[in-house]
Amino acid sequence: MFRIGIGTDTHRLVEGLPLVVGGVRVESDLGAEGHSDADALAHAIGDAILGALCEGDLGVHFPDRDPQWSGANSMELLSRVMWLARERNLHVVNVDSTVTLEAPRIRSYVDAMRKNIADVLEVDLSCISVKAKTGEGLDAVGQRLAITAQAAVLMETTKEIA
Ligand SMILES: [Zn+2]
Repeated sequence: MFRIGIGTDTHRLVEGLPLVVGGVRVESDLGAEGHSDADALAHAIGDAILGALCEGDLGVHFPDRDPQWSGANSMELLSRVMWLARERNLHVVNVDSTVTLEAPRIRSYVDAMRKNIADVLEVDLSCISVKAKTGEGLDAVGQRLAITAQAAVLMETTKEIA
């Protein structure tokens, strides 16, 4: 059996905060604001996996009013989401994702992001796609007010070992 999920996430960019994308600290004058480490890519992938499981979204499992998740490492949240997937006997087949950020250009960070995500999702690097786009100077991303990420995930039932 296959299951498919999609996820999307947006964080406001502000001065004086770190910018973490796919578990990688990106050198930037602006960082992402949020209750956790505000990792938009990790959150979009987490929502996509929860969507494939029909398990709501990250906000349901890790509420932002819960101090436990304040400043949380989002790769840790992703590994908890994977724990839910394993409970349902599902594993990740592949992930496709897009990060939209005006500046800095993050293409040089993409392979490190893919490696982090592949490790947490327990798949080969070749199963994780991260694409980088800009907002072309338009909309909130283009105006450097926000970072957004989209993700799609395909999951499959893990074969029982007899
Ligand atoms: Zn988020």
